[in-house]
Amino acid sequence: MTTAPQPGSTAHCAVCGTPVTEDAARCPSCGLSRPAARGSRVLGRHGLWLLAAALAVVYLTVLLIVAAAR
Ligand SMILES: [Zn+2]
Repeated sequence: MTTAPQPGSTAHCAVCGTPVTEDAARCPSCGLSRPAARGSRVLGRHGLWLLAAALAVVYLTVLLIVAAAR
């Protein structure tokens, strides 16, 4: 019971799964920046909204092209 893993103290890289520290600047294996962020802080809100906005822009662009071609 002395070597029980502590949930939350050890994070894993979101790309390669290498155990990293919470405040690690880069993954030692794949070099990902802030590997412990796990996307909840990086892509949690702004990233998803940016992705949705980008998809909407692409969708509207294609829609305009198709509408203009007819
Ligand atoms: Zn990694």
